Amino acid sequence: MTSQEIFDLNDQYVMGTYGRFPVVIDHGEGATLYNPEGKKYIDFTSGIGVSALGYGYEPWVEAITAQAKKVGHTSNLFHLEPPVKLAEILCKRTGMDKVFYANGGSEANEGVMKLARKYSFDKYGKGRHTIITLKNSFHGRTMASLTATGQDSFHNFFFPFVDGYRYANANDLSSLEAVMGDDVCAIMMELIQGEGGILPLDQDYVSAVAALCKEKDVLLLIDEVQSGVGRSGSLFAFQQYDIQPDVVSFAKGIAGGLPMSGFMSNAKCAKVLVPGTHGTTFGGNPICAAAGLVVQETLSDAFLEEVKAKGAYLCKAVEGLNLPCFGKTRGMGLMLGIDVAEGYVNKELAKKLIDNGLLILTAGSGMRMLPPLMVSYEEIDAAIAIMKDVLGG
Ligand SMILES: *Cc1c(COP(=O)(O)O)cnc(C)c1O
Repeated sequence: MTSQEIFDLNDQYVMGTYGRFPVVIDHGEGATLYNPEGKKYIDFTSGIGVSALGYGYEPWVEAITAQAKKVGHTSNLFHLEPPVKLAEILCKRTGMDKVFYANGGSEANEGVMKLARKYSFDKYGKGRHTIITLKNSFHGRTMASLTATGQDSFHNFFFPFVDGYRYANANDLSSLEAVMGDDVCAIMMELIQGEGGILPLDQDYVSAVAALCKEKDVLLLIDEVQSGVGRSGSLFAFQQYDIQPDVVSFAKGIAGGLPMSGFMSNAKCAKVLVPGTHGTTFGGNPICAAAGLVVQETLSDAFLEEVKAKGAYLCKAVEGLNLPCFGKTRGMGLMLGIDVAEGYVNKELAKKLIDNGLLILTAGSGMRMLPPLMVSYEEIDAAIAIMKDVLGG
């Protein structure tokens, strides 16, 4: 089919939920994608942080194909090899104790919040159920994860929202103390606010929150749906923050392009969810888990060092362009944000770049870059050349 035929079918039959760009993706290789007519795009989006290994990576394709030939799904009533192997690797690499699998980021966070409330119920009884999240955060679009999302613009239309949430300003301990209370069971936060604009939290603040949680037996829940799986230059961003969270959620990059998510808990929280309290039909799907194993094999410590080096190289190259439309850059690893200067609109800049062959994201009021983790220096240089050509004038 041609691009135009696909646009037309989409308009006729698919709900208009997304503000899509007029681009059809047909296939890809490395960090480069092609439309059906053969037009080339450098991909600085990774399908919003999902396609960590880029496109057409042979070991990933082979692992998925091999598992599909064996068995594609069995439910959680039976045991399978790939998800248990993946859980072992995740625990050993992070110091966490046990894993639960789900399918998307919102669903993972729902489970994390259920765990937190039950931990508190088991130990302290009813009423200690409030979860504090940070303003400008993003935790998902299901009813509770949407309530947890600390952005007023999302709290519309779908009333009534879920009870038992309060919000604090990021990087502001007094704001957190002001909403603390005896009814609080958990604090949930992203260490690098992703959708909010690529805003890493301060180390001092994170250490203070961790200490406060410990003192009050309030669970520290870290949402690494976007920052996890190598994106920040370590397997999980919390490993660069010198904390040991109670529960960590992951999703986007975990299976390198297949829908998979989950959360890991420490030993303290590992036995909270017992049979009958939580579950999901597709969770731990063996094809997704087989893909996840390839992601883990690929993300060696040396590979993660490369992610840091490429992120630093990209940041410096963007800064070196001195584009009038761009302000400061920030981020960790290959999770990078660029402020947009006054008088410019991020969505318009994104549209121009995409029209000219560079797929890029926005976040908050700025630009966001999430290239596949195996993006090459040549592809980074090509992307920088497009930015210079398109936005330099
Ligand atoms: C994307 C994202 C989510 C939601 O994930 P979905 O798979 O879209 O449900 C939750 N938290 C963070 C930090 C995210 O970036």
